[in-house]
Amino acid sequence: MKVVLQNLTKRFPNRNKKGADVIAVNNFSLEIPDGKLIGLLGSSGCGKSTCLNLISGLEKPTAGKIFFGDDDVTDLPPENRGVGLVFQNYALYPHLTVRQNILFPLQNLKGADRPSKPEMEKRALEAAKLVQIDSLMDRRPNELSGGQQQRVAIARALVKMPRVLLLDEPLSNLDARLRLQTREEIRRIQRETGITTVFVTHDQDEAMSISDLIVIMNAGVINQVGKPQDVYDDPANLFVAKFLGTPGINLFRGKVLNEQLLIGGESVMPAKGIKDGPVIAGIRPEGFVLNPQGAFSCTLDRVEVMGRDTSIVSHHSESLNDTIRSIIPAENTVDPDVGTVHFDLKPAKVFLFDPESEVRIPVAGSLGGRE
Ligand code: ADP
Ligand code: MG
Repeated sequence: MKVVLQNLTKRFPNRNKKGADVIAVNNFSLEIPDGKLIGLLGSSGCGKSTCLNLISGLEKPTAGKIFFGDDDVTDLPPENRGVGLVFQNYALYPHLTVRQNILFPLQNLKGADRPSKPEMEKRALEAAKLVQIDSLMDRRPNELSGGQQQRVAIARALVKMPRVLLLDEPLSNLDARLRLQTREEIRRIQRETGITTVFVTHDQDEAMSISDLIVIMNAGVINQVGKPQDVYDDPANLFVAKFLGTPGINLFRGKVLNEQLLIGGESVMPAKGIKDGPVIAGIRPEGFVLNPQGAFSCTLDRVEVMGRDTSIVSHHSESLNDTIRSIIPAENTVDPDVGTVHFDLKPAKVFLFDPESEVRIPVAGSLGGRE
């Protein structure tokens, strides 16, 4: 089921009565292709849940339209939209068994929509099998681990065979190992069922690893939509560049002069076709190459051995971060007492931004961040 969001805006009256209205979602337009998993990524308070609640019908938009396929569902109540919802807190009924929890949405159906009892049982078991909890059907939620409870919540969302599955930070209550495992499970289930899915998270690793497309949101506004690798390699603006990547991108005050990028007094890279003026230069940690003759010099703080790679921690007078992190292959050694480290830069890993608008400045001949 293709989902189209057209100029969606949601305005809330401020919670403290005297303040200005909050525009939680601002003129949000997005086409979610049929059968894909979309990761809606942004920091807390940026409007992710509101956006999901608009799709589910739990909230009404102030302006804009929502289509499921060709159907305009903007005014449909949630129960008629055919959406499955999963939240961070599993919201299971504590006094019901796993089976009863999964059956619940079916038992609530009315009239012709209500399946026969054996059909309900069959569908509940199918959903339980899909999330691999079919051996736990007679337990109650308090007899399950967090990961198992979340699987029950997913089975309960799937049992009505929704047209669209909406997941709001579904892994946030799980410990690190379970989080990894459950996200792989969600990916598998989504692939197996082919249900169009929106997965909300503030965790970039989660969004990057699970999504067909990621949508980066900031203050109610879409900043960029694309395949995870494309967005990482080709960020549209400073916000997106900063949001993706661990360790994060290193930022410097720089300037372009005669088609050269200058950071501090050093000419560190060609900047073909860019007019003279100040820029913010973002360098991915993997964009540094150790070279004693390299044009870019930083003051070495320490060297952290991480096994496969080495992380060089340094600083620079023009850095906008407290420390600069460069990741280099472990076979390249650096003397921790060398004082100053010199680097060459990989052009595809360096992005320039307008300091005013924070929009990315395209460099002639550059195809984004691929080497
Ligand atoms: P996220 O899920 O990304 O953390 P939300 O969608 O929950 O963000 O919230 C976006 C903004 O809208 C926040 O500033 C939040 O305080 C505000 N907001 C959300 N729901 C309401 C509401 N019912 N009334 C007033 N403000 C709200
Ligand atoms: Mg939220």
